[in-house]
Amino acid sequence: MNFAIVSRGDERSDNVKAKMKQYLIDFDLAYNEQEPDLVISVGGDGTFLEAFRRYIHRLDKTAFLGVHTGHLGFYTDWTADELEKLVIEIAKTPFHVVEYPLLEVIIRFKKDEKPLKTLALNEMTVKTLEGSVVFDVQIRGEHFETFRGDGLCISTPSGSTAYNKSLGGGIIHPSLEAIQVTEIASINNRVFRTIGSPLILPKHHTCLLRPYQKDRFIIGIDHITKTYSDVKSIQCRVARERIRFVRYRPFPFWNRVRDSFIAEAKPKEEWQ
Ligand code: NAP
Ligand code: MN
Repeated sequence: MNFAIVSRGDERSDNVKAKMKQYLIDFDLAYNEQEPDLVISVGGDGTFLEAFRRYIHRLDKTAFLGVHTGHLGFYTDWTADELEKLVIEIAKTPFHVVEYPLLEVIIRFKKDEKPLKTLALNEMTVKTLEGSVVFDVQIRGEHFETFRGDGLCISTPSGSTAYNKSLGGGIIHPSLEAIQVTEIASINNRVFRTIGSPLILPKHHTCLLRPYQKDRFIIGIDHITKTYSDVKSIQCRVARERIRFVRYRPFPFWNRVRDSFIAEAKPKEEWQ
């Protein structure tokens, strides 16, 4: 089995990477950054997003695993203290794979420029450089609303705990093949009206954003944000491709949500 390791680049993560790499080579696995069967990310969720982007062209051949060197993450299961245990699992046990849905994003341009098609693991966000954005929002080819505000966020189930959560979106279990549309500060008055609630769209229900007047936007795909000009439309739907995670032990999604967001601040005995 070929493997590759992507580190966040801080001293701790680089040390973990070096150790793991040596251990796995000692177990006769081959380090191959070009064609890995297994990609190990060492750092945080941000590092995992980076690793995903690096191997996005071979999702069907690669499975991912995350080790965290900071706090517990949504894509990072293992702690740096468990290295020996993890290395033995990787070397000795055939891995169990769990698949999560991804978001397909297609940006089309006014000029004859080629459309840009990509995938997001967390979300796509669209904002403007100044003022507000106005979009005709279509769902499944039909006009749904005219959105005016700071922008929109369209996320995957595993991304629902990231930016989407800060925007008041719901947390979606990744076994549901869906995407979620959340508003970023919509303007609602006698002239402009938006639904106001996050929308959850099933597979094949494409969401198309057609900008009105403006055509320059800041578009974020996971951790990468860029400015695009001459934007004609942005199309989002559940992707055909999926990400494959390696699992050596169960870590239910709701436990992860609980452990990341709910801290028992005070024991019950101390309640007033
Ligand atoms: P960052 O600024 O370090 O990320 C913000 C936080 O989101 C970090 O604590 C990161 O964890 C966490 N995170 C990333 N993916 C997550 C997920 N699926 N579920 C729960 N938390 C998650 O930047 P980054 O590390 O490059 O991550 C990029 C992501 O940041 C974007 O995809 C977006 O979702 C999120 N973001 C959130 C806001 C907001 O909530 N207002 C604004 C901008 C971007 P780590 O510390 O482990 O990396
Ligand atoms: Mn980060």
